[in-house]
This record gives sequence, C-alpha cells and structure tokens, in this order.
Amino acid sequence: MQQGSKDALAKLMQHDALVRRFIGLTAYDTMARRGSKFTPSSAGQLRLGAHLSAELCELGLHSKQDEHGVVITKVPATEGCQSAPGLCLLAHLDTAPDASGCDIRPALVEKYLGQGVELENALTLDEHLSPELASHVGDDLIVTDGRTLLGADDKAGVAVLMELLKSCAADPGFTHGPLTVVFTCDEELGLSCQHLEVESLGCTYAVTLDGGDLGSLDVATFNAAGAVIKVQGRAVHTAVAKGRMVNAVGLCQRFLAELPAQENPECSAGHEGFYHVHNLEAAVDQAKIFMILRDFEREGLLVRQGRVQGICAMLNEQLGYAAFEASIVPQYSNMADVLKAKPRIVELCRQAYGDCGVEVAENWVRGGTDGAILSARGLPCPNVFTGALNCHGPWECLSVQTLHKCEEVCRRLVTLAAAEVNHH
Ligand SMILES: [Zn+2]
Repeated sequence: MQQGSKDALAKLMQHDALVRRFIGLTAYDTMARRGSKFTPSSAGQLRLGAHLSAELCELGLHSKQDEHGVVITKVPATEGCQSAPGLCLLAHLDTAPDASGCDIRPALVEKYLGQGVELENALTLDEHLSPELASHVGDDLIVTDGRTLLGADDKAGVAVLMELLKSCAADPGFTHGPLTVVFTCDEELGLSCQHLEVESLGCTYAVTLDGGDLGSLDVATFNAAGAVIKVQGRAVHTAVAKGRMVNAVGLCQRFLAELPAQENPECSAGHEGFYHVHNLEAAVDQAKIFMILRDFEREGLLVRQGRVQGICAMLNEQLGYAAFEASIVPQYSNMADVLKAKPRIVELCRQAYGDCGVEVAENWVRGGTDGAILSARGLPCPNVFTGALNCHGPWECLSVQTLHKCEEVCRRLVTLAAAEVNHH
C-alpha cells in the first residue's frame, strides 16, 4: 500500500497553481454546524469568504460578501460578447458537519498504483471502500491524514472558480460573456440558496461545481418532501391501564409496520424512491415520527404522500379517534423537469465535456443539489464533477488530474457560453 507524502505535495504546489489554491482553501475550517443560531452557521465560512472577496477586489473585480456570508462576484463580458446570456457558476464554502474540518493535513500519493493507500493514522483507503479508485490508477491523489475530511467538497469547486476569476482579471485573451460567480454557505445543511435571489444574479443559466467523479453531470434529483407524524396516545397509570391506556410508543410501531418493507434507503437504488424514518420521539402519551419521502417522479412523490396520509387515516379508523396526524412539507423538486424545458445549459455542458475529452456520465442524484433549488426558481442548473471522492469523511480524496479536468471543462463552458450570442 502507498502512503501520502507532504513533501511531494509541497513540491507539486510550487508549480501547480490550482493545487496550491485548493490546499490554501483547506487551511480554513469552514465546517457547517447543525443547530447553529448564526448565519452562516460557522465563523470560518465568513472568514474564508471575506478573504476571497478581498482578493477578488484586489484583482479589480466587483466582488461582495453579503450579510449572510454569500460572496457574489460579477464579471462583465469581454468586448463583443456583451449580448451573450449571463452564466452563473456556483460552489459552496462550507464542509460537511459529519467529520472535522479543522487542522486538515493533506498529503499527496504520487501515481496511484491501485493497491490502496494507508493514511497517516493507519486508516486505509482502498477500492473496497471506494470502487471509483480503480479508474484513477496512475493519478496523483490528494488524501487526508485520516483525522479530518479533506474539504474537496466543495473547495475543489471554489479553487477552480477562483482561478477562473483570476484569468478573467489578468488574461485579456480570455473571452467570456457576462459571468456571475457565487460562493454559498451552509450547502451541507441545505440552506445555501436561502438568501440567494435568482433575479439579482441576472443570469440565464447556471452550473454548480459540486459533483463527484470525472465525467459525472448531475441532471436529475429526487422530488423531496419531509413528513412529521404526530401521535397521540392516552397515558394512564400502568396499575389500571388495562383497557384504558393507549401507548403512543406502540402506535409508532403500528405505523412503521404499515410502511412498505422494501421501500427504504437500505433496500433501494438507482431510480427507485423511498420512505425513510430518520427520527422518533416517543413516550406513552405522545410521539413524533420524522420521515423523508423521495421519488424521481413528481407523481410518485404524491403517491408516497398519499400513502402516509392513508396509513394515518386507516389507523385512526381502527382506533376510533384521531391518534395520527401527518404534516407534509415540500423540500425540493427534481431539476430534470426544468432542464428538459430549458435544455441549453445541459447541451453546453455536454459539448464542453466532449471538447475536453471527458466522457459524459449523466447522473440521477439520489439526493438534492443547490441546482435543484435554483432550477425550481427558474435558473436551470446542472451539477458538474470536481473529482472529490468519498466526501464527508476521512477517506475523502481528490485526483489532481480530475481537478484539472474540471478546470478545463469549466473554462471551455465559459468560452462556449460566450459564443451563444445568436441563441439569445
Ligand atoms: Zn458539496
């Protein structure tokens, strides 16, 4: 098994500006914090955003960090491309709350041999854990020391966009249409678009740089809803409970037994949706069942919502009183519907991938993306790969070659969008 080397990484950073940029970003602890009272949820996101915005202003670009920590940089089109439609590019500053993002110590595995990597704290990263590694034999991999995540999700995307903006400011030969680059906060908490006004971005279409392995292009997400089921029992002293007590803990059990046994995350994959109970608060007198419902089809999600309501109604009928009450909240919807109606950005992405020699793997995300929320608000927004693998934990790693492909694709996309004058 190979091991990462800090010296090799330092050497690479001397001549690789993109890697240098990425490693610099990982020095900021930007872990999103669940339950935080602050916006953004952690001060590190504010600090990093302020640093980036200041650097962009120094480069002569118009960049602003708003009171929610979101950094928006607008770049006017170069001469002759003013009538091209506005393109928005997004990445998020925060890292997942699932693993520490503090004191990240990255290392480089040169020319991965395919036999796995032993991280500094003896955790192993191999193809058993990460089958994608098989297609990265020969690549240089940036890995962690096993104590923290790497933060390539999404600092790889941020790094690519910072280098892109640098080119806009410094390279007069780099032609582009009107660009808006957005660094969001708390994406990992599902809050990144909360304070984003789509109209003020002034763009026709967008991409997020927040995807996974080389070639992936996320064009579909679940339709998503959350459900909370309130369960009302009847608390009576156990001594005299016979025939009188209704135990809400037991009622939860009855509800769960009615859910289709195979339609949960553990038993589904591909294009299948699910019901997922993720939390339960239960006592004798009252209980709450927290669940999420997911389906790629709009109709399918409605069926699932109806089923939850139906189970409640059936059990209420059996019990003879309103023991179960479900409230359902929509969360996000499948961006595929919007991308079908406004397909141009996906076509441009496909072309950009192809021009860079990257095979497109259109992906149905079994989750959401920022793009799902933006698409629903009228800004079509697929998600482009960055190369980050095994995100949200200490096995996170990043292929240097894929990171560079992401940059290449992104620049190509900007160039293609600049030539869109006639389509507008
Ligand atoms: Zn991400």
